[in-house]
Amino acid sequence: MPELPEVQTIINDLNKKIKGDTVVGFWSDWGKAIKNKSVSVFTKEITGRKILGARRIGKNIFIDLSGGPARNASRSDAGGKTLYIHLKMTGHLLVKKKEVRSKKKAGERDYSSERVNQYIHHIWYLTDPNLRMKSKSTNATNKKFNKTLEFSDLRKFGKIVLDDTEKISNLKEIKSLGVDAMSKEFNFKKFREILFKKPNAKIGILLMDQNIISGIGNIYRSEILYESGILPERKVGELSSKEIKNIFVNIKKVLEKAIKYRGTSDSDYRDTDGAPGGFQKIMKVYNQEKRKCQKCGTIITRKTLGQRSVFVCLGCQK
Ligand SMILES: [Zn+2]
Repeated sequence: MPELPEVQTIINDLNKKIKGDTVVGFWSDWGKAIKNKSVSVFTKEITGRKILGARRIGKNIFIDLSGGPARNASRSDAGGKTLYIHLKMTGHLLVKKKEVRSKKKAGERDYSSERVNQYIHHIWYLTDPNLRMKSKSTNATNKKFNKTLEFSDLRKFGKIVLDDTEKISNLKEIKSLGVDAMSKEFNFKKFREILFKKPNAKIGILLMDQNIISGIGNIYRSEILYESGILPERKVGELSSKEIKNIFVNIKKVLEKAIKYRGTSDSDYRDTDGAPGGFQKIMKVYNQEKRKCQKCGTIITRKTLGQRSVFVCLGCQK
């Protein structure tokens, strides 16, 4: 499942690639993913709106849209809307320019032909005012677009919600989210407060609880705890203040590094070009079972904690 670094990579890409574009249409063959509207109502409500930008809380994506177009100004949806997307297990977003679909630059790799990028179940048709429109596409039956935002989702667990921007943060699942692991609010003081309230929790489970700290999943909890030299089953109340400090520093460090590497593609995750991230190449313990620890040479072990795999070095982690 995409975690904070993967989602941040997508957010950065979206702000570069589709900010300022206008939504001119939508297609879906999996309407079930849209949780609060039918595909036709959803399409009607987003069409004509401009993309103001993308942001993130934990693993949750928000794409803010402008107020409705002038011709609809009298309608109740004149205010801004927000598209809330959760990629779940296998989802990722692709941005494609219509005009470069056929002609690629020399040496440019076309990731769209790769199987992982071909489970497209939703398409937003966009116009970018800075991109030339193809004159042929003025045909009334042809949608006037020069770019698409596409949602590839092999397992079809991905989730889409459209609501008024002012209401989106009131959604139950958003309201209940814990502090974002890369936000300024998540500082050492806050981390200590969080741990103080849960002395009996196992640190490896607490780190993944989205309602306590949001953004860390299975991959990064293994990496964070390895870098901190702490076993995931350790009880929070038994950690020394030095160990707590160490975990906090490594949360920020590991996530920051993973963002720099454009996330981890150990399976389905891809960026908006359809290209894999690079962090899996430098991972120290996650999915490294039976390999030697880079620090001490001990063989990496896989354990199960809270029904999920966690990877540890029994030589380095205490
Ligand atoms: Zn080791």
